[in-house]
Amino acid sequence: TIRAPAKKQTTTLTVAVKCRPLSQRACGRDIVRVKNNKEVVVLDPDLSKDYLDRIQNRTKEKKYCFDHAFGPQSTNLDTYQKCISTIISGVVQGLNATVFAYGSTGSGKTYTMVGTQHDPGLMVLSLHTIFDLIRRDKSSDEFEVTCSYLEVYNEVHSADKILELLNLGNSRRKTESTEANATSSRSHAVLEITVRRKQRNKYKNQVMRGKLALVDLAGSERASETNSTGQKLRDGANINRSLLALANCINALGKQQKRGLVYVPYRNSKLTRILKDGLSGNSQTVMVATISPADSQYHHTVNTLKYADRAK
Ligand code: ADP
Ligand code: MG
Repeated sequence: TIRAPAKKQTTTLTVAVKCRPLSQRACGRDIVRVKNNKEVVVLDPDLSKDYLDRIQNRTKEKKYCFDHAFGPQSTNLDTYQKCISTIISGVVQGLNATVFAYGSTGSGKTYTMVGTQHDPGLMVLSLHTIFDLIRRDKSSDEFEVTCSYLEVYNEVHSADKILELLNLGNSRRKTESTEANATSSRSHAVLEITVRRKQRNKYKNQVMRGKLALVDLAGSERASETNSTGQKLRDGANINRSLLALANCINALGKQQKRGLVYVPYRNSKLTRILKDGLSGNSQTVMVATISPADSQYHHTVNTLKYADRAK
């Protein structure tokens, strides 16, 4: 038998790690512990995968190698420029992409995705770039940008309008205290931006559609660690199911990248079903794993790095 060559329709996966600065202040009773925190994370830009393999057996340190690593001094713009900016132009050309922030509560997911006025996050930078690209487009193509954030669906006409929705959606996110953290994000926030490009000339009337999903995932810490019961525990179990299903999809995509087409189990959770378009075909996926350098967060950090490592 002759096997047909697999269609080159594989997803490109980029895994980055972002380490937040050591915090001097924290919420509630964690403040003393956090103040006494020591840094236990080292970013070494010179370590190659080869070197890692050789040294792994000789020390008790855990070492991981990723496509990109961003330290406490880095800005969201750094992450954007290294990992995201090229995929944004693809979205305006009709390609799909998914960017998600994965990490435990307090590790900097929302900071990375939404950011601050002085350090705007990936959602904000992506939106501005999409509208800039459209504004500067020299063709006679017509563009339509639609956007959804959580349960908020709307027709939108500018970056400002979307950012207004983003803030509204953010303030409505379900945050609730658990034993583990004073405030812990228990929902996945998905900002989905769709760009429709209508090409008009006398021969054809073609529409290209590019979709970008930017996902601020729920905290990755385990339900068992939060000692919650009732509704919160169920939330935890659902969150874990989504994160596990996402891990399995990402893992399959990683294999696909190396070995060609493999089955990707998108249907195992709501989250992966929602993200399917941006995780399949020839779409680009970027995972930003957020970690804290603090010794008190060691186990969360190792879990996050393992999860991110599994993706590759
Ligand atoms: P998460 O969304 O993962 O639960 P947050 O993004 O809300 O965590 O971050 C927790 C706290 O740490 C916030 O007060 C945030 O402003 C701060 N923080 C996180 N990352 C950074 C960073 N890179 N630089 C400065 N402050 C940060
Ligand atoms: Mg958050």
